[in-house]
Amino acid sequence: MEVAKKEPIACRLMVIGAGMAGMAAALFAARRGISTVQAGLTGETLYASGLFDLYGVAHGNTRELIDNPWQGLKQLKQTYPQHPFCLVSTSQIRSAMDGVTDFLGHAGHPYAGYPDQNARLITSVGTIKRTFRVPETMWSGVQALEEKAPCLIVEIKGLRGFSASQIVSTLKPSWPDLRAAPIELPWQNRLGPKYAEHIARGLEVEAARRDLAEAIRPHLGQAKFVGLPAILGIHDSKGVHHDLNQMLGRPVFEIPTMPPAISGIRLKETFESHLPPLGVKSFYHHTVHSIHRLANGRFVLELGRTEPETTVVAEHVLLATGRFLGKGLVAERQGIREALMDLPVCQPENRSCWHRQQFLDPKGHAINLAGIEVDDRFRPLNPDGHVVYENLYAAGSILAHQDWIRTKSGTGLAVATAYGAIAAMVNDLVDS
Ligand SMILES: Cc1cc2nc3c(=O)[nH]c(=O)nc-3n(C[C@H](O)[C@H](O)[C@H](O)COP(=O)(O)OP(=O)(O)OC[C@H]3O[C@@H](n4cnc5c(N)ncnc54)[C@H](O)[C@@H]3O)c2cc1C
Repeated sequence: MEVAKKEPIACRLMVIGAGMAGMAAALFAARRGISTVQAGLTGETLYASGLFDLYGVAHGNTRELIDNPWQGLKQLKQTYPQHPFCLVSTSQIRSAMDGVTDFLGHAGHPYAGYPDQNARLITSVGTIKRTFRVPETMWSGVQALEEKAPCLIVEIKGLRGFSASQIVSTLKPSWPDLRAAPIELPWQNRLGPKYAEHIARGLEVEAARRDLAEAIRPHLGQAKFVGLPAILGIHDSKGVHHDLNQMLGRPVFEIPTMPPAISGIRLKETFESHLPPLGVKSFYHHTVHSIHRLANGRFVLELGRTEPETTVVAEHVLLATGRFLGKGLVAERQGIREALMDLPVCQPENRSCWHRQQFLDPKGHAINLAGIEVDDRFRPLNPDGHVVYENLYAAGSILAHQDWIRTKSGTGLAVATAYGAIAAMVNDLVDS
């Protein structure tokens, strides 16, 4: 039987990528009423802690820790004008971060933070992390650390990758009133390994929350705060968190866990369920297999799960395909290649310059600054400095001249450049 060929989907914007940059770009475009199609796999979001870093460590060799990210970014603009953060104004970065956190708040995953300051909170290994925006379920942890208040850290016996005693032993010298308590969950198989996702989904049932509170209660003592691994639900973390606060009679906070983390699953599922109602035609878990440009300037893209299933004709394309983990860039013997369109990649002269001798060299590695060079409207450039196509944009970690891991700016960079690229595209629409 002959299979009827599907009609191509026409749109103004095709967003390639469903990591933080792609999701933010689709959100900003939909809010501006632009007809948008989006495709991509999960990207790095599943690994993310849920914390939204903006700018936590200075770019360059000083490794200076940043308390006020706005001042840090101002300085960055004076010292590293090539950095992609320099393509977006401070007010655009603020609007971008607020836009994403407002969206998540309305979707039931509110964020908290200081207006102009990075917050500090404890990680699952007992180190202190600076970040800009924190899921509300983690926010009391910022206050507990600030006050060094009497605090109980709860460990679920059998849950991998989270040790309350390790956190306490690392922090005890500077936080004497910190205690650890291991508990058993009555409704979990006592012998088998425990998975954070199973526990998180289980806690969406009220009776399971009561059991958890009962198991914690005998250990409370004088604790003013209670810290738990990030397991408080997936779809209703706000409700689970609220109930535990009430049941234990004191503020409870989550501590981000090792990747893949529950907070990443929450983000992924929230974007995937709340962007389509805004009008984004989404093809999650789909890949763009090929892209070519017609004589009239439009792009034709073939997308599908394992092979092409759908054709999209787009007036504009935003490439948000990430770096090596996202598969936007591929490292080969001959050099680093942009995987989908073979765009020019700004990169070290040869492979021997990719890495320094020491893995943990404080100066970082040149390979982590490789990526796509863009003009001030986020359009990829040829080596001669001309734009590749006037209707092709790039955003997120695929951009050159930034090392988001070292500068603790993963979400900030992804979201800010997505905002800048969509704003540039809208300006181009007005101009044309
Ligand atoms: C372990 C880990 C921990 C992290 N922790 C934090 C943190 O604590 N705080 C923070 O702010 N940030 C953190 N981040 C970074 C953050 O998750 C951002 O996602 C990251 O900065 C890059 O976002 P991106 O969208 O540019 O790329 P990616 O997330 O890599 O997304 C790339 C997207 O492009 C898609 N793609 C690639 N090729 C194609 C194609 N041909 N067709 C269709 N789609 C394609 C991929 O499927 C994916 O959806 C962390 C990242 C990792 C890996």
